[in-house]
Amino acid sequence: MAIAAIRCETIRVVFDNRTGKQTILDGLDLDVPIGQIVTLLGPSGCGKSTLLRVVAGLTQATEGTVTIEGKSVAQSQNKLAFVFQESALLPWRTVWQNVRLPWELRRGLGAGELQSRLECVLELVGFKPADWNKKPHQLSGGMKMRASIARALITQPDILLLDEPFAALDDMLRSKLNDLLLKIVEQTQTTMLFVTHNISEAIYLSHSIAVFSHGRIGERIEVDLPFPRTAAVRSSPEFAAMYGRVSQSLARNASV
Ligand code: ADP
Repeated sequence: MAIAAIRCETIRVVFDNRTGKQTILDGLDLDVPIGQIVTLLGPSGCGKSTLLRVVAGLTQATEGTVTIEGKSVAQSQNKLAFVFQESALLPWRTVWQNVRLPWELRRGLGAGELQSRLECVLELVGFKPADWNKKPHQLSGGMKMRASIARALITQPDILLLDEPFAALDDMLRSKLNDLLLKIVEQTQTTMLFVTHNISEAIYLSHSIAVFSHGRIGERIEVDLPFPRTAAVRSSPEFAAMYGRVSQSLARNASV
């Protein structure tokens, strides 16, 4: 069997809340192939963020195992980076200084290499040099998110975990940033595990969609639309048919 970027086996997560024990993930299995975008889709509260946090090693699973390229999560911290819904940039730092922060924390690169890597990721996400010295309050919501993605890429992770990164943005910006993620995967072969509520976004971005059902993946849908994904793909009858199929799966899997 080919080695997966991420392999989750029989993951169980039980939280001890005030109201008693709550089982959020209940024997969940998921494989994410190397270099692909896999989207987690499901209603609010079904456990998508919890699964992402388990993969990142931020939440401990009650049972089950996660392996990253065949190794344990603890051995793989430098392979992973997380992008949250809030860009979480430090307000007193410029774009350049924010993006270099993970490098400062890890101290893995020489100054020359850092400089060229910073230039490379900022260019990749669409920042002009004139904007590199701006502070977060001088940036639009879309530019803040671009800086947040650049910060995640600075350590050259093999895997990006993205938790509804574009939920607060309007549709136009969301489409532009979807295209940015596709460009990043094409140019860097980064694997992405992406959480969204948005069916169109899930279809447009993904190689496959994992639909949640009662703490597990109820259905895995391969998105057999051609790459590169373009505006023409978005308006094709095949896209509309896929939308219908995913909506039905979501309704079926979420029902009791
Ligand atoms: P989703 O991302 O699908 O919206 P979450 O994974 O954020 O869902 O949350 C699933 C459920 O787990 C929610 O009911 C949430 O309140 C609960 N939950 C999440 N994290 C914790 C925690 N650390 N302690 C207790 N309950 C939690």
